[in-house]
Amino acid sequence: MKHDMVTITIDGRKTSVPVGTTILAAAQQMGIHIPVLCHHPKLTVTGACRVCIVEIGGQPVTSCTAVAEEGMEVTTASPYIEGLRRDIVDLILSDHPYDCMVCERAGDCELQELAYKYSIRQPVFQGERRIYTKRDGNPFIERDMEKCILCGRCVKVCDEVQGVGAIDYAYKGFETKICPPFERDLDCEFCGQCIAVCPTGALVSKPSLGKGRKRNVNTVETVCPYCGCGCNITYDVVKNEVIRARSRQDTINEGWLCVKGKFGFSFINSPDRLTTPLIRKDGKLVPAGWDEALDLIGERLRKIRAADGPDAIAGLSSARCTNEENYLFQKLMRAGVGTNNVDHCARY
Ligand code: SF4
Ligand code: SF4
Ligand code: SF4
Repeated sequence: MKHDMVTITIDGRKTSVPVGTTILAAAQQMGIHIPVLCHHPKLTVTGACRVCIVEIGGQPVTSCTAVAEEGMEVTTASPYIEGLRRDIVDLILSDHPYDCMVCERAGDCELQELAYKYSIRQPVFQGERRIYTKRDGNPFIERDMEKCILCGRCVKVCDEVQGVGAIDYAYKGFETKICPPFERDLDCEFCGQCIAVCPTGALVSKPSLGKGRKRNVNTVETVCPYCGCGCNITYDVVKNEVIRARSRQDTINEGWLCVKGKFGFSFINSPDRLTTPLIRKDGKLVPAGWDEALDLIGERLRKIRAADGPDAIAGLSSARCTNEENYLFQKLMRAGVGTNNVDHCARY
């Protein structure tokens, strides 16, 4: 045995993993599925939901917090463990609204999936319900705290990924809820990271409300047009209208977007968008073809250069263009026009 590795047995199969590996991670590496609600691969461990329990030495242990030790024998799915998991999901659902029929996340909800897996139509444990009034003044994020399962993913992503800490747990026991300081309206960077990690319909995108659930959309993979970072975006499209922006975790931006990428897509469907070049004629902007517009630009540049020299011309490029487009633009200015007067909005 190498000292930096430990050998354990999961569901009768032996595996060696580095010291410090959790049982959940070891099982995932072996392709063994263990259900989770609070765990997220990009966030630190929480150990809040208990759904990932496994059996170690006859005892139920949360696999996301249990670290592999030499010789450990783990059972991930026995009638005993599945019974406990069913009870845990039942308890989570005991104060959850029966909103699946109208919920934005139905069909894409990790809690609904577990309720389906364990056939929980009506929770056995019926208790008090938490009733919260929605009172968000912000234009981006709908926060329905009655659907919140207190998994803490949103708190962690806001702190660990975004570095903002706009939300946290407040109060104690049954009164516990996630909210901004002093229960004010959310006032943050509106990156939408919390929506991306929320396993339920507690946090959803306001601009997308009622426009289409994830199962009923066409998806288009693209690159965000806003800046040179080039984040990968998945647009959800319904009837040729972009209704939602998301990003996959296996992308260069690891699924994270900023407020522009996440919410700034309404311009795509705007009727005010320019779809053709415009040339000013007699003081009015008139639609023109590309050949006509480019011929005019070339003619004007040639005239200015002949009259006042190439340095009378300057070119301003854009961060919304690709690196290749910006390279070609400076080439055009330097080699074509003959000036080094070229700059770029990203310098701001
Ligand atoms: S959050 Fe999930 S379980 Fe709750 S109402 Fe919405 S779809 Fe149903
Ligand atoms: S939108 Fe971003 S900054 Fe605001 S609460 Fe969510 S994660 Fe935090
Ligand atoms: S709002 Fe969503 S991510 Fe945040 S704690 Fe509740 S269920 Fe978890």
